[in-house]
Amino acid sequence: MKRDKRLCYLCGRYVLPSDASRDHLVPKSVGGSDSLSNLALAHKDCNAARGVTPVSVMVKRGKPPRRLVLAPA
Ligand SMILES: [Zn+2]
Repeated sequence: MKRDKRLCYLCGRYVLPSDASRDHLVPKSVGGSDSLSNLALAHKDCNAARGVTPVSVMVKRGKPPRRLVLAPA
């Protein structure tokens, strides 16, 4: 996950390896893939706090992730 420079895409802070998780930008439950374009580095806690809310919904609510980088659709 070098492209993320080990920063959480949700809060923007450094992620210790012991705290790291790979978050699916589009959850697998709604057809998201395991490709790198759909994965982002996040803290386990941030990932859990986001739950299954799709990033697109977070943006609509006015609370997008700090470091969101979406692959072109
Ligand atoms: Zn975080």
